[in-house]
Amino acid sequence: MIRLENVSKVYSGKMGEVRALDEVSLGVERGEFVVVRGASGSGKSTLLLTIGGLIRPTRGSVLVNGRELYGLSWGEQARFRAEKIGFVFQMFHLLPYLNVLDNVLVPAMTGMGQDKRDRARDLLEKLQMSQRAQHKPSQLSTGERQRVAIARALLNEPELILADEPTGNLDPDNAARVLGYLSDFHKEGGTVLLVTHEERAREYAQRVVLLDAGRLTVAQRD
Ligand code: ADP
Ligand code: MG
Repeated sequence: MIRLENVSKVYSGKMGEVRALDEVSLGVERGEFVVVRGASGSGKSTLLLTIGGLIRPTRGSVLVNGRELYGLSWGEQARFRAEKIGFVFQMFHLLPYLNVLDNVLVPAMTGMGQDKRDRARDLLEKLQMSQRAQHKPSQLSTGERQRVAIARALLNEPELILADEPTGNLDPDNAARVLGYLSDFHKEGGTVLLVTHEERAREYAQRVVLLDAGRLTVAQRD
């Protein structure tokens, strides 16, 4: 489904250059659950955002179903992100001025049809957030905020979820729930790439890959 070939990403700025990804090659098959580990600064977020069509690599290619992702037009890339990918972040990134239901509906690029609203409500129900549909993010606990972000990620029925330390700000109970929801998505046929330090995540993952200073050092398959 996704294939990275010799991908390097160099950030250049006033402070010099940072090689965040260094010749990374990685294939992710449809229906796989892959955990990405590595120290802070090892390039994990850069890897996820590169796969998600948000960071163009300096060198190398990112192939999605055999097509060069960064060779697509701007519109096609946006469509790919909206239709195929669900993003979940450590800091949730909810819009503070929208209520829970409207946050879940943010990715409804094709319009707010009744079907999208029904799906948003179904997702909130599944994630046990129905009672909070009219609340603003600031009125929610961190665990609840992440459940809203997961509902948002699932709205467009993505093929791939890219989750970047989604449990990093959560207590153990809520962290376990979030891992459970990702596992449910995977059991229903979804593909998951999860950056996490949670040991429990290994139970769900078929594969753990390790980044070390931008290099993929371990690609083990259990
Ligand atoms: P991780 O998610 O594993 O902590 P990142 O992918 O966020 O790692 O960052 C990898 C390296 O790239 C780090 O050294 C970080 O400081 C650097 N980096 C990330 N984003 C930028 C940026 N926009 N400009 C310059 N350096 C960056
Ligand atoms: Mg990161």
